Amino acid sequence: MSLAEKYRVTPGARVDLSEWKSDDAAGVDRDVAEARLADNIDALQKLQHRLFAEKKRSMLVVLQAMDAGGKDSTIRGVFGPLNPQGVRVNAFGRPTEYELSHDFLWRVHQHTPRKGFIQVFNRSHYEDVLVVRVEELVARGVWRERYAIINEFERALTEAGTQIVKIYLHLSKDRQREKLADRLAQPHKLWKFEPADFDTRRKWDLYMEAYADAIARCGTGHAPWYVVPADRKWYRLLAVSEILRATLERIDPKFPDPKIDREEANRLLDEIG
Ligand code: ADP
Repeated sequence: MSLAEKYRVTPGARVDLSEWKSDDAAGVDRDVAEARLADNIDALQKLQHRLFAEKKRSMLVVLQAMDAGGKDSTIRGVFGPLNPQGVRVNAFGRPTEYELSHDFLWRVHQHTPRKGFIQVFNRSHYEDVLVVRVEELVARGVWRERYAIINEFERALTEAGTQIVKIYLHLSKDRQREKLADRLAQPHKLWKFEPADFDTRRKWDLYMEAYADAIARCGTGHAPWYVVPADRKWYRLLAVSEILRATLERIDPKFPDPKIDREEANRLLDEIG
């Protein structure tokens, strides 16, 4: 079974995140993983080139995780080596007053990818059924309606030619503690801290329930959720790169037909000098 299949959540399946391993490495050694990652990056560069040239489809990668789950390092490690002309990254932090004065998808929709592009969401519209639910920022009846709204939204994007891939970087609570302690020990990492991070950690179980619901209710055949083991960076990068590679290989973007005849063009070039 490929890693993409292994970590894809079956649409309609019950989700209990305690049953998903966060330190799985599927029997892969670090050396092997790093070599495979390099090979996947190489393949992704070629696939991205074709996606960009074709300009018919696009890809939206939603990254969600608890603090220190590795979203930033995944973006650097997997999307960093791609052609920056064809990749956009948008981070969704706490909404501004202005954003909050619209419906919750308003700020998100503006950043969906145009044809040919790969768009990464560092956090996303899912925060509106995660932090918003756990922190009770809106009434229960409001966030409960949002799963269906999200599914409709994602279906509309799919219809418009966007392939959606949603990845939850699954970090264990113990590993988060280690990573937070490590950040605290390193002066150049201190800036990443927000007092709210501790609040979120305190409510770990509520977040796990909210994640499980979001993944179960919004995992569809056309916009699947993946639960990727995130405790080990090298394995996380491997798994994410394999998922993206498998997705783009399935889309199989093609170079468009040339607009010129090669012989005719050569002749013209000779003629013009
Ligand atoms: P990150 O933690 O991803 O590196 P930030 O430190 O900017 O980035 O944190 C973003 C914060 O914004 C998170 O605490 C997240 O829960 C919060 N956030 C994102 N979307 C929303 C939302 N729709 N409503 C409330 N808070 C949100």
